[in-house]
Amino acid sequence: MKRLIILLAISCPISLTAQGSELCETVNFQNAVKNGTRSRDGKPGPKYRQNRADYNITVRLDTASKRIHGKESITYHNQCADPLTNIVLRLYQDRYKKGAVRDTEVRPGNIHEGMHLDTIIIDETGISLEGYRIMTNGTNLSIPLKHPLPPNRTLDVYCEWSYEIPMEPEFRRTGYYRDKAWFIGYFYPQIAVYDDMEYAPSMKGWDYLLFHTGLQEFYNDFNNYEVCIEVPEGFYVWATGNLTNEKQVYTSSILERLEKARTTDETVKIISKDDLPKDLLAGNKWKFKANGVPDFAFGTANHYLWDGSSVMVDNRRVFVDVAYHPDAEFYPRVIDIARKTVKYTSEEFPGIPYPYPSSTTFNGMWGGGMEFPMIANNCDEGDTIFMILMTFHEICHNYHPFMTGINEKRYHFMDEGLTQLATIHFLWDQYKLDFYANSKGSERANGIFKVYNHFCISTQDNCSLYNAYAQNDDNNVYYQYVVKPVVPLMLFAEMVGEEKFLYAYQEFVRRWEGKHPTPFDLFYTMNDVLGENFNWFWNAWYMDFGYPDMGIELEGNHIIVKRIGARALPLPVSLTIEYNDGTSSTISEPMDIWKNGARRITIEIENPDGLKSVSLDVINVPDIDHSNNYIGIN
Ligand SMILES: [Zn+2]
Repeated sequence: MKRLIILLAISCPISLTAQGSELCETVNFQNAVKNGTRSRDGKPGPKYRQNRADYNITVRLDTASKRIHGKESITYHNQCADPLTNIVLRLYQDRYKKGAVRDTEVRPGNIHEGMHLDTIIIDETGISLEGYRIMTNGTNLSIPLKHPLPPNRTLDVYCEWSYEIPMEPEFRRTGYYRDKAWFIGYFYPQIAVYDDMEYAPSMKGWDYLLFHTGLQEFYNDFNNYEVCIEVPEGFYVWATGNLTNEKQVYTSSILERLEKARTTDETVKIISKDDLPKDLLAGNKWKFKANGVPDFAFGTANHYLWDGSSVMVDNRRVFVDVAYHPDAEFYPRVIDIARKTVKYTSEEFPGIPYPYPSSTTFNGMWGGGMEFPMIANNCDEGDTIFMILMTFHEICHNYHPFMTGINEKRYHFMDEGLTQLATIHFLWDQYKLDFYANSKGSERANGIFKVYNHFCISTQDNCSLYNAYAQNDDNNVYYQYVVKPVVPLMLFAEMVGEEKFLYAYQEFVRRWEGKHPTPFDLFYTMNDVLGENFNWFWNAWYMDFGYPDMGIELEGNHIIVKRIGARALPLPVSLTIEYNDGTSSTISEPMDIWKNGARRITIEIENPDGLKSVSLDVINVPDIDHSNNYIGIN
């Protein structure tokens, strides 16, 4: 029996400002639309272009002097419409230079003199770093070009460099880890991104102003890499890309086990504990090749265990492997999680075939995990649920920011939000685990709402579109990037239906694979594919400083559900009404009941005399103030 009738009422004028029908675009996005590089249907514009580079790198790890020595030849392709008058090189390791600006703690013993750039040659001309027009901004180095680089032409850059590897334990993504294990990322001079969205005075589209301070992760072009890595005898190397000289580095026993791992879903112990005293290597120069990837990194150790397996994806086998310390507590299980991850991401969520031929998880890092294309650098800490979460999350980053080249310095919430959303789905679907949980009776994993409730009333809360580089407080990063963005994505998927959401999301990835999408491209793609204007939702949840707060009141024979405060976000309504005769009923309204700017809705009570209580669901809907969500009649 239906006990209640909804009397929907819009009791407040429609606001077309903060939550109206036009998306609150930034001026640089409007200019990109004007220039034809982006569009309001969410597709790349007809004039969308991006640059790329071919890197040929030779790098040597000297474990005795604890230094990296490298040489590289770069061919940079200017595929944009603009002539380039300068080139910007990123020297990430200058983050450890004395006096550098940093947003994470660095132990004094890890401070060094920065990247030694011994040689830079541009188009056969040696460059002196003392040159008066050379400029540095943090870890970025801008070098003027003798002749502007016209569109559709290439530039040759050659560099030789070295730097000291950070050795002391701390939370960092690259360096020395326990007991002769090294993970080397952010190690080579890298050409910055020149795009249609950045604008630095005198630098045009270079992302020169955003330098590496520690927390921001990637914004890179899609490049081709050929990398030769020299390590001391007896060290194995795991890296981005395909190993092209495996017969020169492995003996036949390793090659046979590898071959087996590449053809089975079972786990193959490529190096077991029994193998550790044996010398199963035939060389120490490792050659890797990777095309169309946004970065390159490698891990190396001389005493690690190595598990390998593979999984069928889209009529091909993806090689999945894990390299770890023999004393690692959780790692013997990681190969199973990694294999499940590649299968799940390919077939379930996001349901897009894993984009690369391999996925390696390397046991380095302290206190967390860090993704690089095709290889993750992860700790061995916490508990089983954390290890499952971290293993999945870091592999899943191969979709964002690697398959779609999101600018994490600006829009970190995009890649972390989408990745963590997939992680929550995986934990729930495969293990019935809610990492953030606690919420009893929950029928889906939404413990994250509780964490959101807790943080969004603090000064750590910020508008999601607010530039990521400007939110460099180490404490709020996890909340702002990894927790907060998941909430609107979950609510949006619930409103439009999971299947439709997934379809639109997959279309976004198809449109922007190998390109640089902004949040506007994501939002406009969702509108376009779902055939509806959701700008009221994107504006409220991403462009504003809103918070979730609804409350209820009784007015005569009516229940009033209100959004409390001018910035209260649109939320789904879920009411439970109890009667004195022991019966109860629930009433649910989707979030778009607020889409025209309504501030309150009115619901008629059919049997007011018998009313016992009314309550708003605060478990499955985020809400910062629970005191106004329950009315009991005495
Ligand atoms: Zn992440």
